[in-house]
Amino acid sequence: MLGTTKTRAGCLPARMTKSLGGHGPRPQGSLAQKGGQARPSLSLQRLARSLSAASRRAVAMAAEANGSDGTFDYDFFCIGAGSGGVRGSRFAASYGAKTAVCELPFATKASLTTGGVGGTCVLRGCVPKKLLVYGSEYAKEFEDCNGFGWEKFDRPQHSWESLIESKNNEINRLTGIYKRILANNEVDLIEGRGKILDKNTVEVDGKAYRCRYIMIATGGLPFVPNIPGKDLVITSDDALDLPKMPKKIAIVGAGFIAVEFAGIFNSFGSDVKLFFRGDKILRGFDEEVRDFLTEQIEEKGIKVTPKTVPVEVIEGEDGKKGVVTSAGGDVEWFDEVMYATGRAPNVEGLGLENAGVETVGNGVIKVDDYSRTNVDTIFAVGDVTDRINLTPVALMEGMAVAKTLFNDTPTKPDHEFVASAVFSQPPVGTVGYTEDEALEKFGKLKIFTSSFRPLKNTISGSTERSFMKIIVDSASDRVVGVHMVGEDSAEIMQGIAIAVKMGATKADFDATVGIHPTAAEEFVTMRDVTREAVKELTPAA
Ligand SMILES: Cc1cc2nc3c(=O)[nH]c(=O)nc-3n(C[C@H](O)[C@H](O)[C@H](O)COP(=O)(O)OP(=O)(O)OC[C@H]3O[C@@H](n4cnc5c(N)ncnc54)[C@H](O)[C@@H]3O)c2cc1C
Repeated sequence: MLGTTKTRAGCLPARMTKSLGGHGPRPQGSLAQKGGQARPSLSLQRLARSLSAASRRAVAMAAEANGSDGTFDYDFFCIGAGSGGVRGSRFAASYGAKTAVCELPFATKASLTTGGVGGTCVLRGCVPKKLLVYGSEYAKEFEDCNGFGWEKFDRPQHSWESLIESKNNEINRLTGIYKRILANNEVDLIEGRGKILDKNTVEVDGKAYRCRYIMIATGGLPFVPNIPGKDLVITSDDALDLPKMPKKIAIVGAGFIAVEFAGIFNSFGSDVKLFFRGDKILRGFDEEVRDFLTEQIEEKGIKVTPKTVPVEVIEGEDGKKGVVTSAGGDVEWFDEVMYATGRAPNVEGLGLENAGVETVGNGVIKVDDYSRTNVDTIFAVGDVTDRINLTPVALMEGMAVAKTLFNDTPTKPDHEFVASAVFSQPPVGTVGYTEDEALEKFGKLKIFTSSFRPLKNTISGSTERSFMKIIVDSASDRVVGVHMVGEDSAEIMQGIAIAVKMGATKADFDATVGIHPTAAEEFVTMRDVTREAVKELTPAA
């Protein structure tokens, strides 16, 4: 099982449509670089079409001089048109490589036979999830507004069906945009299931394509442990497309997906109970963040039950699902039982064995720093490599492969100081090391923390609080970790991440003038050290 506790960052629909609509860098007038099957760059192709036959012959000759021998159908063939696949393909094509990507037919729920251009993030991950978060957050606004004079404000009725319809319209629009991005960049989209036949051949629904390079970007699928009643449970794919809002839902898992869906259903008025094996939610996050968020979500009525997982799920006569947490124990009934217990790499039937591509664990594809597998012509990016399972990371990895292969710029994706967010309610924003990781790495730290009631809540009546934490390496004064739980933390953390990535010191934070009145200004006004932490040295054995 892959840990969903790996951190992630948000991808807002508006930002995506804007940033992904553009074209990648295109070397003007250049040909596909040596090493790729020569195809004139797109600008040259357009030029050639407008020229005489003689000029067209010259373009073809130039292409040949760059290595075209007709051996390959494509320079670059990507399996999977999700975040990593679309980004890698369009950049490869923009550098002049003849490129194709194959993708399964569209469906809201992913399977071995269904998927859709755009992949998990766009169709059943970041985007639809965030739309549901936005929708659910209005409930809090309706409650909070009374304190601001909106008296006798009746809480309006919510239509789950209408929200799901709007969400589905939006993801249909987005999958169309992604198809256009591929077409505009002259990437051939081949609908069907890709299977590797050998180190240079991919078969899609019976047709074989010879490829100079192959990139695997097949992502992951939800993983549900093998318990009796497994068939009765839903996953995040189903939760984003339920025909009816469940009045009472059990969510099994404590990673970001579990916590985000707990927030969504709780805000829409469901009775939500979280079941998980560990002792706290959000494994891998800073301990204080985990504790603070637990308090906040419990305050909102989410029931948090650590060290408790279903041993069986049973079906009641009324269609309800019963959760049994110990053999012969009591049954608790729910409208839905959602499993968010990790995601597994989507490699079944991919033909990895035909080329000898090595995997570890439950199918994670092993890659080097350049995302190359043990087979020299095959690369892999995104969740299928289980590095940091986030959309922006898959984008970075896909783009780096394209640059390495077709832009003469060997590029390693940089996985250090990747900021991320959990769109819980309140949300979490984080960049850099947790306190435990930082202590292990740097040995001596200064920790600055602040917990406060945001200005808005002084009269809204909401009991929601915010928490901020800065972790500083005592030796260098460098800020090595910043964490926040509270409204807008995802948005705030993106800016902080630039400073942290650039190596900002605590003195740099202190020298920054705040924006008043905001919660974010607290990050530049935390002057007093909350505590110093020193790594205990274990005596040599
Ligand atoms: C509920 C949920 C919420 C998330 N929220 C966030 C978030 O807020 N922020 C964030 O950064 N990340 C988030 N993520 C993670 C993010 O979606 C992934 O990290 C990202 O989509 C990984 O991109 P990828 O290219 O590796 O794979 P994917 O986007 O999963 O794309 C893989 C594609 O390959 C296709 N495919 C698979 N096998 C084949 C085959 N044999 N032939 C052809 N096509 C194939 C699939 O159909 C799919 O379209 C979330 C994930 C989930 C599940």
